[in-house]
Amino acid sequence: MSDDYRKVVQEIVAKFGKDRKRLMDIARAVHAKTGHISEEIVGAIADALGCHRVEVRDMTSFYAFFSREPKGATTIRLCNAVVERMKGMDAVANAFEETLGIRFGETTPDGLISLEYTPCIGMSDQAPAALVNGKVLTNIRPEDVKSIVDAVRSGKLHDGGIVSVKSVESNLQQAGPVIFAPFERGAGIRKALSMSPEDVINEMNKARVRGRGGAGFPLAMKWSFCRKAEGEAHYVVCNGDEGEPGTFKDRVILTECPDLMFEGMTIAGYAVGAKQGFFYLRGEYEYLLPYLEQVLAKRRRMGLLGENVCGAEGFDFDIRIQMGAGAYICGEESALIESLEGKRGAPRDRPPFPVQKGYLDRPTSVNNVETLCCAARIMEHGAEWFSSMGTKDSTGTKLLSISGDCQAPGVYEVEYGITVEKVLEMVGATDAQAVQIGGPSGQCIAPKDFGRSICFEDLPTGGSTIIFGKDRDLLACMESFLEFFVEESCGWCAPCRAGTTFLKMQFEKLLQGRGTREDLKKLEETANTVKFMSRCGLGQTAPNPVLTTLRNFPALYEARIQPDDFIPAFDLKEALKEACSITGQKPHDVEV
Ligand code: SF4
Repeated sequence: MSDDYRKVVQEIVAKFGKDRKRLMDIARAVHAKTGHISEEIVGAIADALGCHRVEVRDMTSFYAFFSREPKGATTIRLCNAVVERMKGMDAVANAFEETLGIRFGETTPDGLISLEYTPCIGMSDQAPAALVNGKVLTNIRPEDVKSIVDAVRSGKLHDGGIVSVKSVESNLQQAGPVIFAPFERGAGIRKALSMSPEDVINEMNKARVRGRGGAGFPLAMKWSFCRKAEGEAHYVVCNGDEGEPGTFKDRVILTECPDLMFEGMTIAGYAVGAKQGFFYLRGEYEYLLPYLEQVLAKRRRMGLLGENVCGAEGFDFDIRIQMGAGAYICGEESALIESLEGKRGAPRDRPPFPVQKGYLDRPTSVNNVETLCCAARIMEHGAEWFSSMGTKDSTGTKLLSISGDCQAPGVYEVEYGITVEKVLEMVGATDAQAVQIGGPSGQCIAPKDFGRSICFEDLPTGGSTIIFGKDRDLLACMESFLEFFVEESCGWCAPCRAGTTFLKMQFEKLLQGRGTREDLKKLEETANTVKFMSRCGLGQTAPNPVLTTLRNFPALYEARIQPDDFIPAFDLKEALKEACSITGQKPHDVEV
């Protein structure tokens, strides 16, 4: 390793106070300078931090945005999520390969540009989309590719974008009364500070507000557990790692009203007794970081963060933004905490729960972006106002990220209890054969279920809503979801690590028309094994694309399997062809 690299590493590690917990930031900063984190760089980081190199290797090898090998000066990461494929990603990918003369996974001979695929980057409403050195390009057409490549080569892309490709649009299609209504900075905090922390929690209880991430855990209960848990310090973490394919509602909140979310975090800090909050921002949204830092700086100037918030003696609270580095599993709260501590994002065993032992084994409340916005509004307008909206067990509004086959994709704020039918009408989807509620980990429903309601009592969702028109090959879309889970499994437990791969192989066999009724049964058995034996939510929900389509679209599977009188046969000569070519034999030389 050159002395230059070692010097870069030492400077960066010193900038972060030689703090082992800041390994994510250190690795991101080093990678930004060197373009990769080789074994030698791993060693240099470990030396500078005074920790074992295994810790650094373990962490840096986990995240998609850290490369072991040197890559091109610019990496074009084209999103290959299902909606992107539906919207013409393949043609765009071909155009990149033709224009650059390389395949995906390769780097141009001049070392300037690398091509890579990446899972959902939160732009499914503006697909196809790509990340170019942290910048986002949306609505890319094959004819845009040459100008993108020219702009990268001439360095223009780094200076503010290119004319032929639209930059990210907020794409808020429908604002509702809770999240996107006009808002006065500090109103919620001042109201909270006029009450005791227990009364603030009680107000959340009266509002019956539940976590918006999909699981729906009551917010008041989480804050109460956290407040009561003993620990040297308490923490608030806002989970801004929305990585479910088809979701992008946090992106819109962070673009339209990040102040509301920071307000909610501050109220949470007061309620649970925390002085420090962390906002974990997914690596794919790096382009939002400078803006969010500005918002935080303004809040500090206004006395809404820092010492004695809003003049309240003894209530000190501040927020640090922690960037992620491309790992879907970090959306799971304990994995996110591991990441925040500078480790690989592997989920922890529970109990203890994060509210008991979270960040640094201290009580930590991890809340969703949208949930914290709701908390700020409840403080501002009261529990009664909030609970007058929605249904009995799902109060307030819900943000839906709508994508796929409809006229107006984007984010919609709707009251809980809205039917799927009404949603389809609202977004201009006239020929839906299926709707994926809650993203790949949710459920794929058929028209017979379009009268059902979006709420915790019926169809719970984190917000991702993907519409599949009548002409789509629905099972091929499910295959793409399975591929996603195979890629994103953290690998800790075998049922998920091996099971998702096995499930995908079985599914592919059926998709290719090579399966029988027996295979169909085996597919369901494997799906249930993965679901019930996996250690965390990722593995437990990874088989949902299979299980929900088996339940709701049996005819699609029936159409693919071989007739019941099919007798499987095996072409030995054909199977041995490759081995014969390696050994120099001819298939007919093989004795059978
Ligand atoms: Fe990791 Fe999957 Fe096991 Fe969760 S279920 S711990 S993601 S391997």
